[in-house]
Amino acid sequence: MIFQPILLKYPSNSSTQFSFEQHYRHLCDLLLAQSRIGALFKGLQIHAHILKLGFQSIPLVAHHLINFYSKTQLPNFSRQIFEETPLKISITWNSVIAAFTQNELPRDALELFCRMHETRFRPNDHTYPCVLKSCGILGRVDVGRLIHGVVIKTGYEIDLFVASSMINMYAKCGTIWDARKVFDKMPYRNVVSWTGMIFGYAQLGENEEALRLFKCSLQQGVDVNDFTFSSVLHVCGNSTLLELGRQIHGLCLKKSCNSSGFVGSGLVSLYSKCGIIENTYLVFDEVKIKNVGMWNSMLIACAQHGNTSKLLDLFRSMEGEGTKPNFITFLSLLYACSHVGLVKEGRFYFDLMKKYGIQPGDQHYATLVDLLGRAGKLQEALSVIMEMPTEPTESVWTALLTGCRAHKNTELAAYAADKVFELGSVSSGLYMLLSNTYAAAGRLKDAAKVRMMLRDKGVKKVSGLSWIEEGNMVHKFTSGDRCHPRSKEIYQKLEELRGELEKSGYVADTSYVLQQVDDEAKKQTLWFHSERLAIAFALISFPPHRPIRVMKNLRVCGDCHNAIKFMSKCTGRTIILRDYNRFHRFEDGKCSCGDYW
Ligand code: ZN
Ligand code: ZN
Repeated sequence: MIFQPILLKYPSNSSTQFSFEQHYRHLCDLLLAQSRIGALFKGLQIHAHILKLGFQSIPLVAHHLINFYSKTQLPNFSRQIFEETPLKISITWNSVIAAFTQNELPRDALELFCRMHETRFRPNDHTYPCVLKSCGILGRVDVGRLIHGVVIKTGYEIDLFVASSMINMYAKCGTIWDARKVFDKMPYRNVVSWTGMIFGYAQLGENEEALRLFKCSLQQGVDVNDFTFSSVLHVCGNSTLLELGRQIHGLCLKKSCNSSGFVGSGLVSLYSKCGIIENTYLVFDEVKIKNVGMWNSMLIACAQHGNTSKLLDLFRSMEGEGTKPNFITFLSLLYACSHVGLVKEGRFYFDLMKKYGIQPGDQHYATLVDLLGRAGKLQEALSVIMEMPTEPTESVWTALLTGCRAHKNTELAAYAADKVFELGSVSSGLYMLLSNTYAAAGRLKDAAKVRMMLRDKGVKKVSGLSWIEEGNMVHKFTSGDRCHPRSKEIYQKLEELRGELEKSGYVADTSYVLQQVDDEAKKQTLWFHSERLAIAFALISFPPHRPIRVMKNLRVCGDCHNAIKFMSKCTGRTIILRDYNRFHRFEDGKCSCGDYW
């Protein structure tokens, strides 16, 4: 490495009047310039020069040195300079706290804040945003509240930046009402405060309020930024509000922030969740500098749409471009492998993860067990569980249980069921599975016990809900419901379809109905499952060539899956169904999932 000496140019009259103060201020300016462009070596030379002249203990110089090392991502040097500065003033404390926050050392930032509290220096509008951000990162709403108290005492509550930071902190910690109180009290608001609120609601799934605030912010002429757009796009994606999402995409193009990584991943997730995978690729290609979040959104999209070969290609490009995969990246890879039964590949990525220094979490283990279980490698799945460094969770045992049920290993299934029970927190969706498992293994007493528990706890089954978007309206259907204004026509259409389907070979599979009723009643229940009502509604109201997109909150049952295959053939329509797990694209009697879901 060659060190280019830098010429320290002094003001032209330096020979006569260059004072001590001018001298060190000039060095500070030079240091600031190097921090801005991240020129480490030049900055180090200036530091050496400062040491030679003995300027290092001047507070202003120390401040600039702390900043310089923070900007060049060497926060431990910032810390050293701070500790070695004998005369610490307010900015010395603030700059070192900022250095820790910027370099993602939130604990250190909070520790320093506590130390500052014991001095005579009071925190101010530079200190609060940093420590509040640290609380948000750590999810420490308790500490955040204490700081909020100090903010009020010191009169900074009405400061725009401090208040916005409080909103962000509460929103990140998920206590949206606290955020809202601060927001409502603010005399002025900026884009940070608006975005913080919108993000908070979006994160909690309170989608209507998130969108309402977004509209308000536009009406009030707030200059919304890429974080705002990314939050609302995620809202639209999660509620599959395609039309609104498209309008927001238009706005992003108008403000030319469509090439930002944040907006890009929002758009990818929007189009992917609405089932338009083609647009997802287009949006992805438009973003030139892709962050890990952007890559992850695209990988998740491919996984959900069952486009595994594209996903594996993408992962290779991601590695090729030097982007370090994270926790979520590997989860998408494992999920995709599990859904098409790529056992060898799944194993490979699970091991690769450790090579990247990422410890597999419960979800990674559950997905690997799911992959092995689906492929019938039950003993291998069991040994993966046994090797887990932490206590296996409900999701891990349930994955094994599902695999055992599919491959009819009743004994191991019952063992897994026992484990789920030992953990004590059986989720409502599991009772039926457990009861059936015990019944199959001949443990009838246990099966009865589970059913009793289900009754005693009054556990409610989540009811199936399907919905469809038409223009700016969302039409919702539950199984057998007659609330829709066009209900009569919908049922007529379904009856008509039933005849056609049966003629072309469809036979209802009543094993999907769990109620103890006769066969005819079972068939009747199946025929009016919510997704079929939604499809019938689309058939009577959509133009003939428009693909039908239906969303469902639960997994599609086997009989609906089969019936919709027949529907696509009889009507010649493309039907896209997004269920709880993945996308199904039905065309000409076939589904894109290859019946593997
Ligand atoms: Zn069904
Ligand atoms: Zn399918």
